[in-house]
Amino acid sequence: MSVLILGGTAEARELAARLVDTGVLVVTSLAGRVSRPRLPVGDVRVGGFGGVDGLTAYLREHRVRAVVDATHPFAVGISRNAAEACPRAGVPLLRLERPGWARTEGSRAWHWVDDHDAAARAAARLGHRPFLTVGRQSLDRFVGPLRDHEALVRVVDPPEIALPPTWRLLRSRGPYGLDDERAVMAKVDVLVTKDSGGTHTEAKLLVAAARGIPVIVVRRTPPPAGVKVVSDVVVAVEWARTRAQ
Ligand code: NAP
Repeated sequence: MSVLILGGTAEARELAARLVDTGVLVVTSLAGRVSRPRLPVGDVRVGGFGGVDGLTAYLREHRVRAVVDATHPFAVGISRNAAEACPRAGVPLLRLERPGWARTEGSRAWHWVDDHDAAARAAARLGHRPFLTVGRQSLDRFVGPLRDHEALVRVVDPPEIALPPTWRLLRSRGPYGLDDERAVMAKVDVLVTKDSGGTHTEAKLLVAAARGIPVIVVRRTPPPAGVKVVSDVVVAVEWARTRAQ
C-alpha cells in the first residue's frame, strides 16, 4: 500500500478519488460506526486499529508510505493516535481538515462553548424547542439539562440511549439545502451544533440567522501539536502523491 487515508468524511472521499485517478494506491480506513457508510473509491478497511500500538503495527506491516488524516474535526481520538503512531513508524502524516465556521457571517453573535455539557446548559437557558445536530454519540450529555424540553434530534443512525419522551427523532443524512432546513427548523427556537465546518450542513446556520434564533456552537479541539494541517484537498493530493512514489 502507498497511502492510508483515515476517512469518514466527504474530503476523505474526494482525496481518495483524486489519488486513485492519478494512479496512487490508497486504502481508506473507516471506523465502522454508521450502518451504511458512503464508500470511497479505492480499497477500504473497516474498524479500529487497536489504539496507538495497533495503528503503529498496521503502518509497519502494510508498509504505508504516507498517512492523510482526513477524519472529521471532532474525531479527536483517532487524530491523536495518528499523531503518535506515525512518527513511531517513521511514516509522514498530514492532517486534512476543512475550515470551521468561525468566519461565517454572524458567527460572532453565536454562543461558542467548549464542550457538549456547556452546550446543553446553554440550550436549556436559551430555548424550549432546541434543534440538536451534534451527532448521536454526544446525545447523552444533553439528556439531563434538556429532559423537559421539546428537543428535535437529527441523527444518521439511531441513538444507543433512550431519549426523553418529549424529544422527537429525525433520521436523515446531509447534505441539506436551505429549503430542507427551513422546513425542519420551522418550530425550533435554538440551534445546537458542533463547529463541523464545510458546506454540507451549513444551511441550518443561514436559516437560524434569517429567523433570528440563537445558535450554540461547540468549539473544535485544536489538532495535535506538530502535525502539518491543510484545508485544501488539492494540496493534500500533491503532498500524498509525492510521498507515494
Ligand atoms: P474518535 O472518537 O476519534 O475515535 C475513536 C476510535 O474509533 C479510535 O481510537 C479508533 O479506534 C476508531 N476510529 C475512528 N476513526 C477511525 C477510522 N477512520 N479508521 C479506523 N478506526 C477509526 O472517532 P469518532 O468521533 O467516533 O468518529 C469515528 C469516525 O466517524 C471517524 O473516522 C470520523 O471521520 C467519522 N465522523 C465523525 C464525526 C464526529 O462528529 N465525531 C462526524 C462525521 C464522521 P482504535 O483506537 O481501535 O484504532
